[in-house]
Amino acid sequence: MQQQEQTFVMVKPDGVLRGLIGAIVSRFEQKGFKLAAIEILTIDRALAERHYGELRAKPFFGELVAYLTSGPVCAMIWQGLHAVENARALIGKTNPVEAAPGTIRGDFAMDIAGNIVHGSDSAASAEREIGLFFGRTADDHRAGWLAGLDEAHG
Ligand code: GDP
Ligand code: MG
Repeated sequence: MQQQEQTFVMVKPDGVLRGLIGAIVSRFEQKGFKLAAIEILTIDRALAERHYGELRAKPFFGELVAYLTSGPVCAMIWQGLHAVENARALIGKTNPVEAAPGTIRGDFAMDIAGNIVHGSDSAASAEREIGLFFGRTADDHRAGWLAGLDEAHG
């Protein structure tokens, strides 16, 4: 049997706020992925900064961290063959302007600053990100998910 792989996918706060969790989960299921874990949580600044650590020097880093911590996210582990690459293909290019119709960003997003979904870019990133969001230390970074939900959904 071929090697199963896991990848980390996250519906970002704008995707959650717009009620797109179901549509995004549905696309992954239709593609053939198996859902291995799912959780709604509001993350703190420290976790957002660690998650996007390699982008720390970018001019938009502050905006990116503010975006990611602006409300609850939906963190997921999806499993299947070539899960990392298949997820990236399903999600589409980083900039929704360039993301093909039929991809998640191509169909549901307009701007790079609000591209609604994250997917790991390599097996090593997937392992690191799954550890960050679903490992033991994740508990330290939950900025009161109920409070976040109340804020986001009024
Ligand atoms: P991804 O792997 O396709 O998500 O893209 P990157 O790893 O290069 O960037 C991570 C995230 O940073 C993107 O998904 C966007 O949310 C954000 N981002 C990337 N480029 C820009 C930019 O030029 N401006 C802003 N505001 N955000 C950006
Ligand atoms: Mg990336």
